[in-house]
Amino acid sequence: MFDTHCHLNFKRFKNSIPEVIQRAQAAGVTGIIIPGTDLYTSKVSVELSNQYEGVFSAVGIHPHHAIQYQKSNVPTSPKVPLGVSKSQIYKSKLKSNIEELKRLLTHPKVVAVGEVGLDTFQYTNTKYQTYQINAEFIEAQKQLLVEQIKLALEYDKSLILHNREAKEDLLPLLEKHWDKKLEGKTVFHCCEPDIELLEFAQKHGIFIGVDGDVTYGAEKAEFIKKVPLEMLVVETDSPYLLPEPLRTKKEYPNEPKNIPFILQKVVDLKGETIVSVKKIIEENTKTLFQLPKNK
Ligand SMILES: [Zn+2]
Repeated sequence: MFDTHCHLNFKRFKNSIPEVIQRAQAAGVTGIIIPGTDLYTSKVSVELSNQYEGVFSAVGIHPHHAIQYQKSNVPTSPKVPLGVSKSQIYKSKLKSNIEELKRLLTHPKVVAVGEVGLDTFQYTNTKYQTYQINAEFIEAQKQLLVEQIKLALEYDKSLILHNREAKEDLLPLLEKHWDKKLEGKTVFHCCEPDIELLEFAQKHGIFIGVDGDVTYGAEKAEFIKKVPLEMLVVETDSPYLLPEPLRTKKEYPNEPKNIPFILQKVVDLKGETIVSVKKIIEENTKTLFQLPKNK
C-alpha cells in the first residue's frame, strides 16, 4: 500500500518521523510520497526520501506561497540597489527559486513536481499578513504553476496538482499548457467532488486522489463512486483530513498508517474485494509515479 500524499516534511512531524514511518510499515503502508509546498519543505522531503526506504519525494511550490512572487508584496529593503525595480526583484526571486527546484529534481528519489496548482480560498490561518485573493495574486499563482509544469516536462517527472475552488482558472490553463507526456503521470490531489474535473481527468489520463474526507463527507463519497477504480490513488494528506472513526476519537494528527481506513471506504463504495482494490490502486500508483512494477 502507498500513501501518495502526506506531509511528513511539516513541523508537526519534526520529532516523530521514525515512529510515524514504523507505524505506517506495521499497517502495511510500504510506500510514501512526500510533496513539498515551498523550497524549505521540498528540501526536507528530499532529505527524508534519502534517509528512508520506500519514501519518495515531490518538490514544488504550492499556490499559497505564490504571494512571494507578487509585485506588490516585495518589501522595499535598504539592500535593494538603486535603479532596480520591484518588478525585477520579484521576477528574479521566482527565477532563482525555480533554479533551486531544478537542482532538487536531479535527486534520484524525487519522482514528481508537487504540490502545485491554483487556490482561490481565502485562508485566515496563514503566515502572510497581506494574504488576499485578487487578480494579481491569481496571476502570480498561474505564472508559478506554468513554470512548474514546464519543470515536470523538462525533468520527465510526474505532476501533483492542487486545486481549491479554482477550477474555472485551472482547467483552461491546463488545456493550454498540456502535453501528452503528462498523461498517466498527473494526479488531481484531494480532488474536489466535481464532474467537470472528473471529465477533464478522463480526457487527459489524470488520476484522482482520494483522502480521509471520503469517510465522512457524503458528497465526496458519492463522487468517488463515480470515479473508475482504474483512476484512483489513495492519500492521507497528513497531518490533515483524519478519516473516521479516528476523527470522532480525535486521534490527531493524521498519519500514513491510516491509509487502510480510506481503502476500506473505497472497497465499501465500489462493492469490490479488498484484494482487488488494493491491487488496482497499487498498480495506478506505480503508473502515476513511474515506479518499478515488479515488486
Ligand atoms: Zn498537500
